[in-house]
Amino acid sequence: MPNSFSVLIIDDEIINLQIISDILRSEVDIIMAKSGEQGVRKALELSPDLILLDVMMPDMDGFETMEKLSQDSRTCDIPVIFITALDDIKNEEKGLLLGASDYIQKPIHASIIKARVALHLKLINQHRILERLSTIDPLTSLANRRKYEETIRSEWKLMEEINETLSLAVIDIDNFKQYNDFYGHAAGDKVLQKVAAILANNFKHNSNLVARYGGEEFVAIMPRTSKKEALQRLNKCISEVQEMAITCKKENDNVVTISAGVSSIIPNDGFKFESLFAAADEALYLAKYEGKNQVKWKSAKAKDIA
Ligand code: GH3
Ligand code: MG
Ligand code: MG
Repeated sequence: MPNSFSVLIIDDEIINLQIISDILRSEVDIIMAKSGEQGVRKALELSPDLILLDVMMPDMDGFETMEKLSQDSRTCDIPVIFITALDDIKNEEKGLLLGASDYIQKPIHASIIKARVALHLKLINQHRILERLSTIDPLTSLANRRKYEETIRSEWKLMEEINETLSLAVIDIDNFKQYNDFYGHAAGDKVLQKVAAILANNFKHNSNLVARYGGEEFVAIMPRTSKKEALQRLNKCISEVQEMAITCKKENDNVVTISAGVSSIIPNDGFKFESLFAAADEALYLAKYEGKNQVKWKSAKAKDIA
């Protein structure tokens, strides 16, 4: 069991908390809670990887605790194993129907708890590896379009809740077809990787996300970022790409450059995130039209108000 995992044990009997934590302590980080309420609070605060949950507890029992956990998006995906002395099928069925991952019966056997917890942590680990792989673009190691779609939705919602500006940029390599035609696809891929590295470095803070949208096009999500800050950020990327001085002999020794379109908005009911993307894309078109190697900004509002 990798030691970087944390397991939250929720049980009203201190002796049980001690026994289970003694069994698992050498393998995982332990968090203990002696009531359902405390367990839900600690799950929210500390995001454990796995929860071991007693069924029989005064006030909030294990089933109610499980329901509370599954109602909150921050805790609903944490696997829960019920631990209980109840040995009737009905309760086991109820727990599993509520979404429990497993059921372990008391009296507690060290080897059984260890093996079950190890198995579930292994599954959690595999799931995370798959999740990571499914959201990464293999060529550039940036987030992929799927991750972008997920993130723009959640950031849009969050910025709407806290009434903050969300900026979005669409970035595209200039005249890339000519570069590919002249130097070949493999050399083109290297350019994509170098541009991606510059973008990754410039959008690594404050829950920014830069993703490869497709081909030689990238998107950057900038939460809590004004038009002015977004333009500064993009201008810096544009300069850094130009300063790499990757020449394309086909084009009179011109260097590889990028263009970008940006739009910014405080999300609200009247708009959809798609309108923010459309505005950034139109701004990119304008940047290309006006000579490339530059960034343009466009409002997302005008069209939606009509
Ligand atoms: P513009 O300045 O208007 O963006 O012109 P452009 O030539 O960059 O745009 P166009 O859409 O005509 O061509 C995009 C080219 O990007 C086509 C293709 O050769 C190249 N490209 C797209 N994806 C990849 C990739 O994964 N690897 C490589 N090497 N090239 C790619
Ligand atoms: Mg109990
Ligand atoms: Mg291009």
